[in-house]
Amino acid sequence: MAWIPERAEGESKERVAFIGLGNMGSPMTTRLVAAGHSVSGFDVSAAARARFAEHGGAPADSAVAAVADAAVVILMLPNSDVVDAVVAEMLPHVRAGALLVDMSSSEPLRTRALAETVAAGGARLIDAPVSGGVKGATAGTLAIMVGGPAESFAEVSELLSALGKPTHVGAIGAGHALKAINNLMSAIHLWGSSEAMLTGIAFGLDPEVMLEVINASSGRSGSTQLKWPSFIVPETYDSGFALALMLKDMRIATSLATELGIPHELGDEAVAHWTRASADLGAGADHTEVARWLRERGSSAPEGRVETKERG
Ligand code: NAD
Repeated sequence: MAWIPERAEGESKERVAFIGLGNMGSPMTTRLVAAGHSVSGFDVSAAARARFAEHGGAPADSAVAAVADAAVVILMLPNSDVVDAVVAEMLPHVRAGALLVDMSSSEPLRTRALAETVAAGGARLIDAPVSGGVKGATAGTLAIMVGGPAESFAEVSELLSALGKPTHVGAIGAGHALKAINNLMSAIHLWGSSEAMLTGIAFGLDPEVMLEVINASSGRSGSTQLKWPSFIVPETYDSGFALALMLKDMRIATSLATELGIPHELGDEAVAHWTRASADLGAGADHTEVARWLRERGSSAPEGRVETKERG
């Protein structure tokens, strides 16, 4: 049974609370409002709250005020530290039995522990992190990885369908584990494809021709299909996903591998490379800027390029 009861046409759907109105939370709440939900939201940033109000949301002065009477509370926050702190603050004020949905990319083992705290407080927690970036959040095409009891998934899947495609991936924390693992792969692909693309460009290959051929070949990935053509070749570096957040996800995945005794040498190497880029590029950098950083680290060839030999 869906958590949202059938309603007559024109009648608004049950209220949803949404905490974290940043790069992802903003387009996600816009979609929920467009789907007919009344959304109360909170973010510590006044600018984020103002943008939320412009898009039809009801901004609250605190997380506690936002969650009052909401059956579902969505969290889209930077990391587990912030999620834990916000949940601790709001828990005594959420409706009995409310379903908290952590859509942030959090730490799976901390999510399991938090679910117990939430249950002791009379509410429920599931994890539902996403992939697809700001583009996917805007278009409502996010891949949503839900961890938690099947009944909770059933309750919330109609609501989540306004944001993308929800898939029940396992018990509590499973979504967060899968999300971190996905992003470690994505980060390795971006680094590897950047080194490869820069090599081809230095050889004299046209990056657009390279991408066209690679994307029809075995070297393709999300980085060659989306990130290189959309953010790196045009040099906009505006994917909306911070380098610092990518690094956080990579560390979650390698810590999980350590915890589980799984080899992760390449993962550790990737974390070390991304950490160096992050130190140089600074906290505000977009994750796609690693390609520019690699290019600017230079090459032995003048201008970073070598000409191709003329074909006979
Ligand atoms: P963001 O930094 O743009 O947004 C996070 C928001 O949380 C900010 O607006 C910030 O002001 C707010 N915030 C911080 N502390 C708060 C608190 N105590 N109470 C209320 N609000 C608070 O980050 P984002 O890119 O929207 O990412 C959010 C989450 O989604 C992260 O866990 C990230 O890893 C994940 N994610 C991001 C992308 C992406 O492409 N940007 C894609 C998939 C997953």
